[in-house]
Amino acid sequence: MSIVNTVARFFNRNTKKTEEECKPEILQRKQHGISRRQLSENALKVLYRLNKEGYQAYLVGGCVRDSMLGAHPKDFDVATNATPEQVNQLFRNSRLIGRRFKLVHVLFGREVIEVATFRTSPKEEHNSQQAKTGDSGMILRDNVYGSIDDDAMRRDFTINAMYYAVNDFTVHSYANGYQDAQDKLIRLMGDPETRYREDPVRMLRAIRFAAKLDFEIEHETKAPIKMMAPLMEQIPAPRLFEEVLKLFLSGNALVTYRLLREYKLFGELFPLTEQCVANDEFAARFVEQTMINTDTRIQSGKSVTPYYFFAALLWPSLQRVQAEFLEQGLPPQPALHKAANRVIEQQLKRTSIPKRFTIPMKEIWDMQARLEKKKGKKAAEAAESNRFRAAYDFVLLREQCGENLRGLGKWWTGYQESEEYKEIAANRKPDERHTKKRRPRRTNRGSANDRQRSRRPEA
Ligand code: ATP
Ligand code: MG
Repeated sequence: MSIVNTVARFFNRNTKKTEEECKPEILQRKQHGISRRQLSENALKVLYRLNKEGYQAYLVGGCVRDSMLGAHPKDFDVATNATPEQVNQLFRNSRLIGRRFKLVHVLFGREVIEVATFRTSPKEEHNSQQAKTGDSGMILRDNVYGSIDDDAMRRDFTINAMYYAVNDFTVHSYANGYQDAQDKLIRLMGDPETRYREDPVRMLRAIRFAAKLDFEIEHETKAPIKMMAPLMEQIPAPRLFEEVLKLFLSGNALVTYRLLREYKLFGELFPLTEQCVANDEFAARFVEQTMINTDTRIQSGKSVTPYYFFAALLWPSLQRVQAEFLEQGLPPQPALHKAANRVIEQQLKRTSIPKRFTIPMKEIWDMQARLEKKKGKKAAEAAESNRFRAAYDFVLLREQCGENLRGLGKWWTGYQESEEYKEIAANRKPDERHTKKRRPRRTNRGSANDRQRSRRPEA
């Protein structure tokens, strides 16, 4: 890997920006419309403290974009010219995170404010400890610090390159970000092909923001996606797992799914499922319905779990593979188990799925046959399972998509009115699907590792 030279050559090409692009448009309070009441008090505390110590500090990214659009920001990120070590020293309630992309998390109870130092493009003199790029142009390490203007050029989209200052309430908008937000446009900063090569996950992010904000992807930003979609192969499976959760479990699954298919990205995430939906009407209906139901649950404030979602997405492939084993003469249950292992193993090549999710996925699949046996004590035994509710929802989903299960869903709906079931339900341990367990040190943005993994181009 020819690190320093590759980095320099590559970035020089990418950093030839017009003067205009590198200088911000300064928007006053009246123009941008963000009021302090929309912002996290803790994030503001971080800004005030950094300013007081003489550092520059801004809110940046999604929190500025969403506040400006009148939406509720998911989290608050700060950018500063203080180094991670300086930030860490300033806040007792903070910790240093990551090696390849160093950050500081400032912790306020369950809220985490992420503070990043302004990044710049690496130049010849920087060593591989600071910056590193793979042969394909992908950024592997990114710890060269710079100014706010440099930092803006390294952001993904123009709408994410807006910085809010609390000392004068201005927003610094780069590369026409403010105008793009008004025009509802997702536009990459810089040359699209280069930026996708640096970090192919930006293709997924373009789709995610288009779906979430109901924005259009600008022509040059969308043009290379189909052709470059295979670059997703380079992304480590754990990072793609995190991205999948953000893409599908945030309330816009259906629109996101359709866009991902249109841009040939869905098959990069779920190759087996793509094969099924492209060739089989039931599979296509099943996956669309899964997306619709996921969105509906979120809209009505119900929880959604990765294991149910993955179980549903892999169901059409599972049935296919199980059918092959049945043809080879295996009995139904062993055929199902073998198929489950095979399908999960294939999927793990693209997205990791933690064991705590693959186990309940298999249980949901396994219970589909168990729910068909209702005689004697069988019904009560099935209903006692912690996975009963999820497995029952799964039966309804199958029927919703046209599978003829001879009234199975209706039977189980009725059963849940019985005294027998009410007693079982009263004694059952709560299903994790409906009670989120919080682990120590887990933040409302996922663990530090999850967060680190899902950000920026690193493994
Ligand atoms: P949301 O939090 O609603 O998903 P966001 O824009 O805040 O959206 P984050 O993943 O929280 O997204 O990232 C915060 C900011 O960091 C982004 O707005 C963007 O400026 C920058 N950023 C994140 N990921 C990348 C990336 N892969 N390449 C370049 N910049 C990125
Ligand atoms: Mg964010």
